[in-house]
Amino acid sequence: MSPTNTFHDQNAETSTLTNPTLVLNCGSSSIKYALISEDESTRITGLAENLGLDTARIKHTTLNNEKLEIPISGGRHKLALQKILELLEQYHFVAVGHRVVHGGREYSEAVRVDEHVLSEVKRLKILAPLHNPAHALGIEAVQAIYPNVPQVVVFDTAFHQTMPPVAYRYPIPKALFDEHRIRRYGFHGTSHAYVSERASDITDTKGTHGWLTAHLGNGCSATAVYDGKSLDTSMGLTPLEGLMMGTRSGDVDPSLHMHLKRQLDMSLEDIDAMLNHESGLMGVSGLSNDLRTVEQAANEGHADAMLAVEMFCYRVGKYLAGLSCALPEFTGIVFTGGIGENSATTRNRILEVMRHFGIKVDAAKNAKLVGGNEGSIHAEDSSIELWVVPTDEECRIAQETRAALNLA
Ligand code: AMP
Repeated sequence: MSPTNTFHDQNAETSTLTNPTLVLNCGSSSIKYALISEDESTRITGLAENLGLDTARIKHTTLNNEKLEIPISGGRHKLALQKILELLEQYHFVAVGHRVVHGGREYSEAVRVDEHVLSEVKRLKILAPLHNPAHALGIEAVQAIYPNVPQVVVFDTAFHQTMPPVAYRYPIPKALFDEHRIRRYGFHGTSHAYVSERASDITDTKGTHGWLTAHLGNGCSATAVYDGKSLDTSMGLTPLEGLMMGTRSGDVDPSLHMHLKRQLDMSLEDIDAMLNHESGLMGVSGLSNDLRTVEQAANEGHADAMLAVEMFCYRVGKYLAGLSCALPEFTGIVFTGGIGENSATTRNRILEVMRHFGIKVDAAKNAKLVGGNEGSIHAEDSSIELWVVPTDEECRIAQETRAALNLA
């Protein structure tokens, strides 16, 4: 079925998507998009993937939950965005919000795109070489087709701009900070902001809340959020620091680079690729970056898979325990991301690592909270609360986009 035919049939639905915001997440080889109605109740979503390859295609889900696949063989960002915008044109979006990975230290909130902002997004490719150039392409493609639709950039780093220097500085010479912006920035900001705000909405605890948010997906990070503000987080200058992830190592000895160069004559590029793409669950298990595969092998007695799962949970628990030091009050832990939302056993193992905190899990509630549901998993007599909150970065980006344009 051609997409055009499908959309002719959808006129009746158009009215349900009132004043929608288009959210774009342009990556190096893919573009995720979501068109979200003003009241956030309705959305159309899709993904352009394998950009630049013969297999490039757009997977589009309509309002009726109908799945379309549109081949765009060899198509890159510009062509993919043209097609996506064609698919969504009839819904008359009022604004476009872009997820941008790095905002440096200049941006602490979402901003409307103008010449200066666009040039900053491009300049910051020094800090996010894979991501920021793709985001800039997305902004320019929309500008070319819809010069009058306002665009906003929502930075992954912005939420963490409230971190105090004690958390964001590295103990290295001051000039590197002053002159070259070498500091910790933190990432996954929209997710940590969304789930911590949601936890504060659903808890019965009154007063100011201190949450540790654990975003555990293919990328993983944890944040200490107090009174809605990030006070410390596990990712740093780049999204490699901190927790063990699907393919990323997280923390290693910084002298590893020097050692590998001397011992194995590895280049900096090779070491960087190894730490980003061949490490984490993948590297330790030797099997997969997907926790489901690794967990299954561990259950069947695969020794490396067992160690990978144990290391993953140990490192998350150890980090959460450390991050609790940033909180003036500790209300609870919020789990999110594909692993945090779905793997009851992983949540349990992480909390067992934190055994000195007086945390008590309600085993039945924990086992039930899988598959994208929201709820608490703590026992009545637990020292802190435990929540599972499915993340919704697209929704948060749409909210911040409307707020930046005073449409909210
Ligand atoms: P994300 O990047 O947030 O999409 O999360 C991807 C990660 O979530 C992968 O490691 C998946 O294996 C993991 N995941 C998704 N569903 C489950 C599940 N039911 N049990 C364990 N891990 C899961």
